[in-house]
Amino acid sequence: MISEKMKPYVQNNSAIRMMFEEGNRLRKLYGPENVFDFSLGNPSVPAPDCVRQAIIDLVNEEDPLVLHGYMSNAGYEDVRATIADSLNRRFGTSFSARNLIMTVGAASGLNIVLKAVLNPGEEVIVFAPYFLEYGAYVRNYDGKLVEITPDTTTFQPNLTEFEEKITPNTRAVIVNTPHNPTGVVYSEETILALTAILEKKQKEYGSVIYLISDEPYRELAYDGVEVPYLTKYYANTIVGYSYSKSLSLPGERIGYVVIPDEADGSEELTAAATIANRTSGSVNAPSLMQKVIARCVDAGCDVAAYDKNRLALYNGLKELGFECIKPQGAFYLFVKSPVPDEKEFCNAGKKYNILMVPGSSFACPGYVRLAYCVSYQTIMGSLPQFAKLAEEFGL
Ligand code: PLP
Repeated sequence: MISEKMKPYVQNNSAIRMMFEEGNRLRKLYGPENVFDFSLGNPSVPAPDCVRQAIIDLVNEEDPLVLHGYMSNAGYEDVRATIADSLNRRFGTSFSARNLIMTVGAASGLNIVLKAVLNPGEEVIVFAPYFLEYGAYVRNYDGKLVEITPDTTTFQPNLTEFEEKITPNTRAVIVNTPHNPTGVVYSEETILALTAILEKKQKEYGSVIYLISDEPYRELAYDGVEVPYLTKYYANTIVGYSYSKSLSLPGERIGYVVIPDEADGSEELTAAATIANRTSGSVNAPSLMQKVIARCVDAGCDVAAYDKNRLALYNGLKELGFECIKPQGAFYLFVKSPVPDEKEFCNAGKKYNILMVPGSSFACPGYVRLAYCVSYQTIMGSLPQFAKLAEEFGL
């Protein structure tokens, strides 16, 4: 017998599993090269060679009792210092080891931050469309998720509604840029306007509102677009980072959280989030991976491969008459469904072996998400299939 809290998750999980199984069924039937599976945000570029080399060297060189042992719940101090130095070089910040906590990916980072700051019933604001797991993370700590409706013209946050929905009970706001599922990067103008609203509301209510920047796609930005580093704009910013996408290590579960000195109650907050690492069951981030990251801290991501896919898919779909905004980052394209019920469109796609995720899975019905972290052949092979789909919908 399972808890009431888990029941809706189990139901929803079967929908995700069905999509996964549908992909496997189609691959068996038609061969993997004839299935165009755009459903998963799993990187298609292998981890850089320095990751492989670091793993080999660490295993050969380090004392196994240290390499595989427990450490501080916040992670190795030298690893945190190395990452802090790298951030300071890149973004002109002044972090040190004490500002970082190593985490089990971005998911765990968000969880420990929410666990550290939320009292039951306090509100966390998110901008639709958004990564739906945020809802689960907030509910884990009995917080209340408050959604802002999307601005479907630009997919920049709707700041008028945002200002209206901030209450004395608002404890945090989650932003994600570059953005899943739209590929949008929040401009500096947006960040300045958003943080000005937060400052104003904090003053008005005498409250603390943390801005949680969920940024697993930070390195994936195209055409030289700037991704503003948010701690420089608002003192109460907490950054959640992950190497899942930038170093193609999603299964290794490694990331970190930054809590700057300027954040309200920084020291206590860092202590609370560190304890949350332990009490939420993660205990600490994987030891070997922490040490790998320290050796690969400035390794780049092969953005060019994703960029090639981005342009081919975006241009290809636009030519076929589909509507979508050009992604500036991440590896997703958010396409307007030609019919209001995007699930109907997703189902039609399956006839042509195209798998897409309905926008309602991101609280934005009427759109579909295509994850273009696939091979270039998959992109090129999919375009004639998309042409048939476009024809079916009269585009
Ligand atoms: N946040 C966003 C916006 C994501 O898209 C993802 C994963 O796809 C995550 C968080 C979770 O990342 P991780 O695998 O590092 O936990």
